[in-house]
Amino acid sequence: LFITFEGIDGSGKSTQARLLAEGLREAGRDVVLTREPGGSPGAEEIRRLVLEGDPDRWSAETEILLFTAARRDHLERTIDPALKAGKVVICDRFADSTRMYQGLSRGDLRPVVDQLHALMIGREPDLTILIDMDPEIGLSRAKGRRGTEERFEDFGLELQQKMRAGFLSLADEFAPRFRVIDGARAMDAVAAEIRATVDRALA
Ligand code: C5P
Repeated sequence: LFITFEGIDGSGKSTQARLLAEGLREAGRDVVLTREPGGSPGAEEIRRLVLEGDPDRWSAETEILLFTAARRDHLERTIDPALKAGKVVICDRFADSTRMYQGLSRGDLRPVVDQLHALMIGREPDLTILIDMDPEIGLSRAKGRRGTEERFEDFGLELQQKMRAGFLSLADEFAPRFRVIDGARAMDAVAAEIRATVDRALA
């Protein structure tokens, strides 16, 4: 089973992905927890190229190529082998993040994202957990973090609002694989709902 987590910055994706991985491991499942951009040695290198340094280094189009290259490597080296071995793969962000961030944030590049996806990736997760949250809450949580990747978190409230709406309409567009979870509640309550959803999918 291939499960992805999506949502705006600060929505709690990474924490929830980790909690789900821990819970499933305790239940005896073989789990690979991974993330994008990154998740394989080559893709982690591309992550550094994209997320560190001058934010204007790449055009929007080049950035789409880099994210897609990273995803292709991640699929070949990490995700596909794990799925073939019967493991549960949990991935913090996947193609839906590119549909949103690269597809929406600097003009409408969704057609470019979709064409490259069809050409080079061509697969969707079995289940996507969208953690939905008011960007004001998400942004204040994300700003509490420090690191080299702050440029993306300086997106600001307006863009995060656009992203939130975009993710919700993506959930409609790909309805069967999406589950929308209210992320504004306590961490444990969110984790329990996600676990129940995943257990149903694994049953
Ligand atoms: O999920 P994570 O916080 O590790 O992502 C790092 C940053 O990269 C985020 O702030 C996110 O906005 C950005 N990002 C992006 N396009 C993607 C994936 C992530 O702009 N496809």
